[in-house]
Amino acid sequence: MPELPEVETMVRGVRPYVEGRPIIDVRQPRCLKKPISLTPDMRAIRKQCVGQVVSRVFRRAKRIVIELDSGHSFLIEPRMTGLLLVADPPTIDHLRFEWRLDGSDFPLLFWDRRGLGTISFVDAAGRDEVFARLGPDALEVTVDEFKTRLKKTGRPVKVALLDQKLVAGIGNLYASEILHLAGVHPETPSEKLTAARISRIHAATQEVLLTAIKYEGSTLSDGTYRNVLNQDGSYQNQHRVYDREGLPCPTCSKGTIQRIVQAQRSTFFCAKCQKRR
Ligand SMILES: [Zn+2]
Repeated sequence: MPELPEVETMVRGVRPYVEGRPIIDVRQPRCLKKPISLTPDMRAIRKQCVGQVVSRVFRRAKRIVIELDSGHSFLIEPRMTGLLLVADPPTIDHLRFEWRLDGSDFPLLFWDRRGLGTISFVDAAGRDEVFARLGPDALEVTVDEFKTRLKKTGRPVKVALLDQKLVAGIGNLYASEILHLAGVHPETPSEKLTAARISRIHAATQEVLLTAIKYEGSTLSDGTYRNVLNQDGSYQNQHRVYDREGLPCPTCSKGTIQRIVQAQRSTFFCAKCQKRR
């Protein structure tokens, strides 16, 4: 968590507060917790970004990109519990980074409870280098490219979907939901998938991710994920399998949702709608 829909929600939320505005200052609020990864150091970042105008904010997989007129960008990876906020944060103790912008009443904040998130400030070449390590974005990958990539691996399809080099943006929660909607068993070896089933997974990926963006992402029972105004998302109410072990399947109403562990992560599915074949 946050996955593609949550990160896209952050991007859409912060855009009106930051695009077209010059950065007045950046600072690291006093934080006694383990520091987040910040590169280069604060002095170098400040020297290069203050006075620059934010030209655009966009998403690449599970990263937020704040691009400046100079061609430099902040790359923000929320990882487990990172959030971008333009409102009072859930706690003061976990504030990690702050951007002050000319013409904005409230600073842009990066908050991270566990502190595993990262912020890096890079030039255009540095950004290309990071992007080159990622597969095509889950919302942009074509069905043919998706097919080629899935056919190259014998790993179970659920595990393959989490590989950011194969396709970027899908995480543990949405992988279970996507395979359920597509009616595909999560342990199916990717290379054994028929073209028709890969097309269904591709279509389900678009549908699940776009719907989750519409609902502003999923706020799970731990309450960590919040939108930029520190409010809950609501896609958790649309989950069909994730974290629903033992409950009846809402799709077929005959099966019971099961939980298995794949590559140390929980997978949820319905054996009735997602038959092994
Ligand atoms: Zn079912």
